[in-house]
Amino acid sequence: PYDMLVVGGGPAGAAASIYSARKGIRTGIVAERFGGQVMDTMAIENFISVKATEGPKLAASLEEHVKEYEVDLMTEQRATKLISADKTEDGLVHIELASGATVKSKSVVLSTGARWREMNVPGEQEYRNKGVAYCPHCDGPLFKGKKTAVIGGGNSGIEAAIDLAGIVEHVTVLEFADTLRADQVLIDKANSLPNIEIIKMAQTTEVIGDGTRVTGLKYKDRNTDEIKEVEVAGIFVQIGLVPNTEWLKDSGVTLSKHGEIEVGSHGETNVRGVFAAGDVTTVPFKQIIIAMGEGAKASLGAFDYLIRNSQ
Ligand code: FAD
Repeated sequence: PYDMLVVGGGPAGAAASIYSARKGIRTGIVAERFGGQVMDTMAIENFISVKATEGPKLAASLEEHVKEYEVDLMTEQRATKLISADKTEDGLVHIELASGATVKSKSVVLSTGARWREMNVPGEQEYRNKGVAYCPHCDGPLFKGKKTAVIGGGNSGIEAAIDLAGIVEHVTVLEFADTLRADQVLIDKANSLPNIEIIKMAQTTEVIGDGTRVTGLKYKDRNTDEIKEVEVAGIFVQIGLVPNTEWLKDSGVTLSKHGEIEVGSHGETNVRGVFAAGDVTTVPFKQIIIAMGEGAKASLGAFDYLIRNSQ
């Protein structure tokens, strides 16, 4: 068995595995796709100490760093079930894979990340990273002085609009419902800013562009069924970040109401020997540098657990 098995090969999982392997303990990573969301990212300008890089380049560096150590890297493997140590005969945590195999470990770090909920409208995929964006902290500055739209009027949408309003020329917020779901303080703040316009009862129907970049979007006014157009260079989709925890449903690991794994200050979950890190957890702010720090922390938390609990 492994001493530490990391499930997920994004920034959090890579960091966890390196910290584990450097302790000289048996370490494995099971990941569907090494690199995680970083593989879907182009410009990265907020990974501190690296002025600018690209997702695939950073993912390649992550892999290179992991491979410096004795880490069993099992990619293209999807975890489908976690069985906690108190339910197994051997007292180990079992991770079942879609392939039918079971991987066993004394401790595990769950770092299966999250995915942005998409609009599923024509043009969204075509213009992803060409004007369609999901992370205002990451891509906001790329639209300096330009017109942008934010899709979604929940807390993340209104926060994004306030954040962007300080950088871009104008922000149009499109909300599907007739009310905003954001906290009132955020709504008040957004209403006080002259370059934010909020349109309710608006269903985004299409992303439009010139073949290389976004030039605008179409939405249906749900009061009149009329199709309207807004000219924008950037569209920030803020309709939810979905944690990849569906596979943990019957595991006993406590999830928040949003499906995120609840973790404590050492990355520990409520299940013995099971730790978690990165976008899949309740830790606020989903960023590469944060995921890496959390991965390191959970790994040290798991190591501390191992030295106190194994013979
Ligand atoms: P992820 O990167 O999501 O990795 C999850 C890992 O788990 C992957 O290896 C995946 O294959 C694996 N996995 C999932 N389910 C299973 C399963 N059941 N079994 C096995 N493996 C599984 N952040 C920044 O700091 N700066 C940026 O500029 C930036 N730009 C972004 C642009 C885009 C388009 C996106 C989508 C995100 C961006 N982010 C950016 C956010 C950043 O990518 C994430 O915060 C970070 O990747 C989270 O790391 P993670 O390791 O927690 O999870």
